[in-house]
Amino acid sequence: MNKRVEEIRNILIEHNELFSKSIPLIASENITSPAVDEACNSDFSHRYAEGWVGQRVYAGCKYIDLVEDICMELAKEYFNCVHADVRPISGVVANLAMYNAFTSANNGKMLIMPIPKGGHISHAPKFTKSGMAIYGTAGTVRGLNIEYMAFNNDEMNIDPDATAKIIREFKPELILFGGSVFLFPHPVKELSEVAKDVGANVGYDAAHVAGLIGSGYFQDPLREGADVMTLSTHKTLPGPQHGTLLSDREDLIDTLRPNVFPALLSNHHLHNVAGLAVTYAEMLEFGKDYHKKVIDNAKALGQALYERGINALMEHKNFTESHQIVIDITNFEKTIGLGGDIERLVEEANIIINRNLLPWDISQGRHYMNPGGLRLGTSEITRLGMGKSEMVDIAEFFKELLINKKDPQKVKQEVAEFKKDFQEIKYCFQTSNKAYEYLKFY
Ligand SMILES: *Cc1c(COP(=O)(O)O)cnc(C)c1O
Repeated sequence: MNKRVEEIRNILIEHNELFSKSIPLIASENITSPAVDEACNSDFSHRYAEGWVGQRVYAGCKYIDLVEDICMELAKEYFNCVHADVRPISGVVANLAMYNAFTSANNGKMLIMPIPKGGHISHAPKFTKSGMAIYGTAGTVRGLNIEYMAFNNDEMNIDPDATAKIIREFKPELILFGGSVFLFPHPVKELSEVAKDVGANVGYDAAHVAGLIGSGYFQDPLREGADVMTLSTHKTLPGPQHGTLLSDREDLIDTLRPNVFPALLSNHHLHNVAGLAVTYAEMLEFGKDYHKKVIDNAKALGQALYERGINALMEHKNFTESHQIVIDITNFEKTIGLGGDIERLVEEANIIINRNLLPWDISQGRHYMNPGGLRLGTSEITRLGMGKSEMVDIAEFFKELLINKKDPQKVKQEVAEFKKDFQEIKYCFQTSNKAYEYLKFY
């Protein structure tokens, strides 16, 4: 075999070995089932199918159309809406389509969650108010004029009254809910009424919480006043890396469609559409069980950490209503360091987490590279079959590392031993050998 190809293969094998011995707690990640993987490895990955089902500009799309049609039907059923566009190739691309549909290029006004409090870079302006270049997608690509919602640090949520005032003064074209730090449902219902008064459209970026919404456990933005909901298909929704754009407004469909294709895409990664169709079928069957467990585990992990002196936030509200918890680690600043240092320390023990800004970090002079917080998510560990008692085990590993100062190399061995029982993906259909008939055949 070619040397570089062998090298690449070996690296991929090592990566798999690492993750088989690790505890994956990145809130934006999840894993796909064998049935989804098979669909993603089909011949669809070689093909082009520009346009809408039945109106392609390529030949050979007969079976691709059938699968994409099923994917749209299942998405509409899962999210209970009249329009599902499964072509956006990621959450950011779905957001761009939403900006195209509802804002004026160059200086159209959009109201978003503040970025340091959990808003996403794809909603952000090109420059911060102080002039620092951040190249946020909405500002860089669409030239939008961005204003921020008011945020209540104590509630870890948008402040509805103060934000209503901002909406009336700023008069945005688009109000966008949703973010990357997302513990509690946003006040969509209250603020959608204010949006109507100023003629704004309402968007909801469900990249993180889409699975929780589809399975009925978070909020229901399309019933609460959101005109459009966008999502990544691979966070709480355990699908391939892709996107979806949804609406329950029949009258918007003709506006929304061309703003995905031809406005943003040529081909739309058809193998992932096939994998996504399987994902929606899986979640219609298993989502109720799976996502309940995800949220229960997040609360249990918050509680177990809190009891061990690791400061999971929002104890008075049961820590979270989503798959995430946020931890304030500033009490370890003198002994270990801040978010970046702690991320590295626990990674030495094969616990994979991410550092995160706390809502008050910037005002207290902390930097996003080494912030005061951590964000943990339970989507992936739940999919591997973990439950409440494992949340206690995981909290114990954190205690050993952060409080008892145990050697991370020793904890790493314990983590590998613990992980042995969790090597199989749950909440999915069993695949038969027959399924392999449609794998790549060249
Ligand atoms: C992750 C995330 C996205 C980006 O999604 P991609 O699928 O990676 O493009 C968009 N919005 C929010 C709020 C996110 O957390």
